[in-house]
Amino acid sequence: MRRLRQVMADGGDRQERLDKIVQLIATSMNTAVCSVYLRRGRDGLELCATEGLNPDSVHKTVLHIGEGLVGDIAQHKRPLNLADAPSHPRFAYRPETGEDPYLSFVGVPVLRGGDVTGVLVVQNTTKRNFADQEVEALQTVAMVLAEMLSASGEETATVDDADAAQLFTGRGLTEGLAMGHVVLHEPRVEVTRLISDDAEEEDARLSAAMYKLRRNVDDLLATEDVSHAGEHLQVLEAYRMFANDRGWIRRIRDAIATGLTAEAAVEQVNNAMRARLGGRRDAYLRDRLHDFEDLSNRLLRILSGRAELASEDKLPRDGILLARTMGPAELLDYDRKKLRGLVLEESALGAHVAIVARALNLPMLGDVRGIVNAARDGQEIILDTDSEEAHLNPPADIVAAYSNRARLRARRMQRYARIKHLPAVTRDGDTVRLDKNAGLMVDVETLEDSGADNIGLFRTELQFMVAARLPRQSEQEEVYRAVLDKVGARDVVFRTLDVGGDKVLPYLNMAVEENPAMGWRATRMALDRPALVRVQLRALLRAAAGRKLSVMFPLITTKDEFVISRDMLYAERDRLQQFGHKVPETIEVGAMLEVPALVWQLDQLLPEVDFLSVGTNDLMQFFFAADRGNPQTSDRYDFLSLPALRLLAHVRELCAVHRVPVSICGELGGRPLEAMALLGLGYRRFSLPSASIGPVKRMVRSVNGRRLERAVAEALTKNRIDMRAPMREIADAQGVKL
Ligand code: PEP
Ligand code: MG
Repeated sequence: MRRLRQVMADGGDRQERLDKIVQLIATSMNTAVCSVYLRRGRDGLELCATEGLNPDSVHKTVLHIGEGLVGDIAQHKRPLNLADAPSHPRFAYRPETGEDPYLSFVGVPVLRGGDVTGVLVVQNTTKRNFADQEVEALQTVAMVLAEMLSASGEETATVDDADAAQLFTGRGLTEGLAMGHVVLHEPRVEVTRLISDDAEEEDARLSAAMYKLRRNVDDLLATEDVSHAGEHLQVLEAYRMFANDRGWIRRIRDAIATGLTAEAAVEQVNNAMRARLGGRRDAYLRDRLHDFEDLSNRLLRILSGRAELASEDKLPRDGILLARTMGPAELLDYDRKKLRGLVLEESALGAHVAIVARALNLPMLGDVRGIVNAARDGQEIILDTDSEEAHLNPPADIVAAYSNRARLRARRMQRYARIKHLPAVTRDGDTVRLDKNAGLMVDVETLEDSGADNIGLFRTELQFMVAARLPRQSEQEEVYRAVLDKVGARDVVFRTLDVGGDKVLPYLNMAVEENPAMGWRATRMALDRPALVRVQLRALLRAAAGRKLSVMFPLITTKDEFVISRDMLYAERDRLQQFGHKVPETIEVGAMLEVPALVWQLDQLLPEVDFLSVGTNDLMQFFFAADRGNPQTSDRYDFLSLPALRLLAHVRELCAVHRVPVSICGELGGRPLEAMALLGLGYRRFSLPSASIGPVKRMVRSVNGRRLERAVAEALTKNRIDMRAPMREIADAQGVKL
């Protein structure tokens, strides 16, 4: 490092200095080759100096970003350490460089303010991985090199990444389309001062910042409450562990001793950690790496005096939030009115934050790798959940295509808005009940505005999933009361706790199961752990004192499971009454039909229930034996097919015979063509995702119920398995608005 500084201080022209640097590195690291590639234009990386490769290739060999190992390092902004580089799939052979004999390879990006300005490479003939310390040393040199290039104003003509269009793909976790400006949930701090003359002072700055950081984390842990997610608490515990990790602090100190500023040292150690753990597929290690990076970022914010950056202050009116991961409570902390979308590097359909995003009607993409590192606050971004793409700095043609689609969508929304407060009545006068699915207070608050009649499914587990510990009876009661107060004269059907399976409550210590969807979940768990459900039933009964209470039990598989659950509810009511508490004026108890076996017990079950609710999400996954959460299976079998329609026709007929009201509460009913088929089978009650109320109401109002029923019944006699095409034909023939 000392000699390197000497080279920098000596002056001379850029080429001379670069030549000296590569020689110096090759000598001190004992490698046969050391080369520097610098950015040329928007997409090029030019070999600018080399020790060991053919000197004639200098300024001639150019790789594109993403091409070869060097291009790969620049694209992903991370080091590569390979024992046998030519066997790597990204290796691009350039005969003019004469690199044939070299096997081992380490390359690190030269980063300046988050942008790649070049790549620094060492190579050797022996086949061995370089040690972590060697990679770290090379990263330190790359930092110094970045500083040198920038300080002397001789930086290659780099095109700022901040302007380059970039496309990322992920998974659409909610529906929608959005254009706006990037808001980084945890803004990255750009380290601009890298080299320091006073290691002692940097060390003292680090100590002071570390002290603040530990206090910070302790404070966060102390103020953590139920309104925050359980996983959030675990993350904070991990933060505390890292913040007190001596190994981490020692390595930052070592980096300061080599002449880096405290900020550069933190970044260097972070880069090294990312290089070591970044490629791992292990979800636990990746999570820990994220925790670690977030903590490093916090430390950098303290060091640069930007610790108190409040997210609210800088939220534009069209913010699209980007984060690696995020708990649901953190999302709820933002002002929904200013948020247009959410992009996370990690997250799946069932993730809590995705459930909250859906409730907030916020377009969301998950599993978008690498976007946080690539993005800057304030950049333009387009988010499309249909094509499952996020465009950073979108080019003009993408913006135009987006604008067109957004216009069409807005027109559609206006159409729905116009009929929002009209009843869902068919042309021949049948009233169809369109309720909505809910699970959070925000869903309840938007009931009026959604155009739905009631809440046909209130998923009570969401409160449990966003809490850090099991909510107390009084806390549950408070939520249920608030829901009932808010809906007033409308109905709410509360579904008892549907946890287990993939809906894991971290504080319940549930075992990992091989087949969680078919495992110990929902009512099965409730019957084995009656205390849990009793507390919930009591909370529901008390909240609904003097009013109507509707409760349904999920995943009922046998008639007895329902009867025991229902009797537990009645027993709790009687008990409350005995103790002089006011109880609900009326109680309705229903079962969810989600397990095919229950279909063949309906004649015994129906006399026991007040209503039946068909949970098509689970019913179809079990009917077709196709995992609803796995994209490879979830769309494989079509609901609009003979077996599924026959099944639901049978259910509908039995409910009619037993005069039991039946509703459809899965996502299926939210798609207009599917809902039309269900209307054709005679269903007249639906509980839908909020965004589906408009499209389904429009469809209902265009239908002649009797005519539709006749056509659907006839289509079912035609011996065709696929029913999608026939349903489309019926819709066309009858002028149904889909
Ligand atoms: C269903 O299974 O259809 C249902 C409504 O319940 P959930 O989606 O919560 O499992
Ligand atoms: Mg279900």
